[in-house]
Amino acid sequence: MQNKTKHASKSPKGVSKSGKDINEMESSQLMQLFEDQLKDIYWAEKALIKALPKMSKNATSEELTEALDNHLKETEGQVSRLEKVFELIEKKAAAKKCDAMEGLIKEGESIMEECEEGPMRDAGIIAAGQKIEHYEIASYGTLQTFATTLGLTEAAELLELTLEEEKTADETLTEVAMSVVNVKALEASKEEDK
Ligand code: FE
Ligand code: ZN
Ligand code: FE
Ligand code: FE
Repeated sequence: MQNKTKHASKSPKGVSKSGKDINEMESSQLMQLFEDQLKDIYWAEKALIKALPKMSKNATSEELTEALDNHLKETEGQVSRLEKVFELIEKKAAAKKCDAMEGLIKEGESIMEECEEGPMRDAGIIAAGQKIEHYEIASYGTLQTFATTLGLTEAAELLELTLEEEKTADETLTEVAMSVVNVKALEASKEEDK
């Protein structure tokens, strides 16, 4: 978190030195954290708009390409949804670098370089993709909880929509792995062993 916040609870009798009600202060600190986390995922989603097409281009399985391309479209909608949430809290939409997503995307790039093109690389792309989806699931879960606590009902609903899309994206990748990609990757590795 960027802003170092003072502990309001240290002040006596529920009133801070500035005279502000403590509940109000703590909720504004939570609002600050909410905004910071929004900026983080906003950066992450924008980075994914660049990363997903690269992953799709590297994939061979039609099912995987389709899943990645569909999720790219969803991701564009998620960016707009985040902009709507910024609007709802009357803040300018701004991105703050997410070190975690940068790392996850870098890992994905390494996997693609290390794995031979074909089913093995597809399996690697799914591995990287699922780690990305899980980070997003964690992020949107937290954001939705913050929004609900802050009484931001509409924002919470928007975040919930994205959360569900991320969960579905993760499940789709599991399905693609189990039904096609992992099976072919295993066959390919058996061929290598011959
Ligand atoms: Fe997303
Ligand atoms: Zn992040
Ligand atoms: Fe982050
Ligand atoms: Fe996603």
